[in-house]
Amino acid sequence: MTQIDNRTVEQQEATPTKTPRLRFAPSPTGFQHIGGFRTALFSWLYARHCGGQFILRIEDTDTTRTVEGAVDDLLRGMEWLGMDIDEGPIVGGPYGPYYQTQRKALHQYYAHQLIASGHAYRCYCTQERLEAMRKEQEAKKLPPRYDRHCRYLSAEERAALEASDRSYTVRFAMPLDGETVVHDELHGDMVFKNSNLDDMIILKSNGLAPYHLAHLVDDHLMNITHVLRGEDWISSAPLHIQIYQALGWEPPLLYHVSNILGKDKKKLSKRRNAPSWSDFKREGYLPEAVFNFMALLGWSYDDKTEIFTHEELIRAFTLERIGVASGIYDPDKLLWMNGYYIRQLPLDELVRRALPYLERPEAEGGLPDSVQRPLDIPYTTRVLHLEHERLKTLGEAAHVVSFFYEQEISYDTALLIQKGMDAARTRSSLEKARDLLASLPEWEHTILETPMRDLAKELELKVGQLLGAVRTAVSGRTATPPLFEMMEVLGREVTMRRIAQAITRLAE
Ligand code: GLU
Repeated sequence: MTQIDNRTVEQQEATPTKTPRLRFAPSPTGFQHIGGFRTALFSWLYARHCGGQFILRIEDTDTTRTVEGAVDDLLRGMEWLGMDIDEGPIVGGPYGPYYQTQRKALHQYYAHQLIASGHAYRCYCTQERLEAMRKEQEAKKLPPRYDRHCRYLSAEERAALEASDRSYTVRFAMPLDGETVVHDELHGDMVFKNSNLDDMIILKSNGLAPYHLAHLVDDHLMNITHVLRGEDWISSAPLHIQIYQALGWEPPLLYHVSNILGKDKKKLSKRRNAPSWSDFKREGYLPEAVFNFMALLGWSYDDKTEIFTHEELIRAFTLERIGVASGIYDPDKLLWMNGYYIRQLPLDELVRRALPYLERPEAEGGLPDSVQRPLDIPYTTRVLHLEHERLKTLGEAAHVVSFFYEQEISYDTALLIQKGMDAARTRSSLEKARDLLASLPEWEHTILETPMRDLAKELELKVGQLLGAVRTAVSGRTATPPLFEMMEVLGREVTMRRIAQAITRLAE
């Protein structure tokens, strides 16, 4: 009796529940990019929408291609995005195990059941024979397909091979004629000619089932009700439907979700630098912005609403609003959305979230290593307050605010000289500004502003000519937050020192 987890196969074939159960079933053959997470997110959102369950199953039967660390990366990514798992590795659950290799005995049981019912057969063909066959088909420009040699072995040949201990694979015996109809909830009925279909391997010689059988047995035994997966699987779907029929099982509802395309309309793929969750995290995207953005990659509520909280998405998300057209990955839209989410953060929360980005090493995008860590929180709060409206990612914060922290700022002296000015005039104006600022009783932006504007008039300068020079002098930049607020945060001492340095530079 095939047993796993103290339960027999019959016990595993529990009566299907009505509760929607959706799964994410990645293969740990690489790190998932945003496309995989998007499809998982659709399943998660729908499970949450209807009070169902979201299951994570690791499809690790292709052991030669397993990539170390892939599962860990996946789990951390789901946690970062806020996709909690009801059943799966680590959390466990009543339908485990959730690693497919640990379910091997179940897959074998059904492979042999299919042999017994005449829907599958043992194939003893050697690698050499299959390879020669493939080459010949290639030369004749025929589609690569198994020639069904072992399907037609005589009873004696079969008995002899069975008695020997030759290794074998198990192949599904596809009906030779007729059609298979795959009903997809998004695409409708898709009809396939059986004569075009191959006798695919459903159990490998190492005893592990490939995807085709393994996922199907697991989906059935785990009572999965809705299967959302990439549209690349459409061509395999007729085989799956045939296996469901051969086992006498009802297939779950199928949703083949379109791939995500880049702006160039090409499929996003790992090879073409599709970002992963950790890239987004490193660059300082907020998980809630990425979550919102991903939900709109191939799904829409009303063609205009773009901003949704988790809760709003859960409430609004239904499967029939998944589009058949591909979602387009537009990095500019993500950047805009992230800026929006940053602006919504309370200031102290922005500081809390930005600190790790500012304090990381300079080589990783943090503040210059010369800036002492940990940063002063009240000061950083005042700095980030000034940048709150403009910040698009937390990752860019270090670059944007570094002059608030650096002892010495470096810039090109030419930047001090505004349009219609020369070095001498800039210098004398800065001297006047220095004297004026030194005479002010208090250092507060409201107190700094009026006298400085009056000074520009007195010097017969445009306001921008004077303030532009001061801006560069105190920040080393031409674009900054509002000048007087920035000067207030920098403080009198730093501001005066930097203006004095600018004057010296202009004298040289
Ligand atoms: N293991 C398959 C993959 O990673 C899962 C496809 C499915 O969701 O059924 O592509």
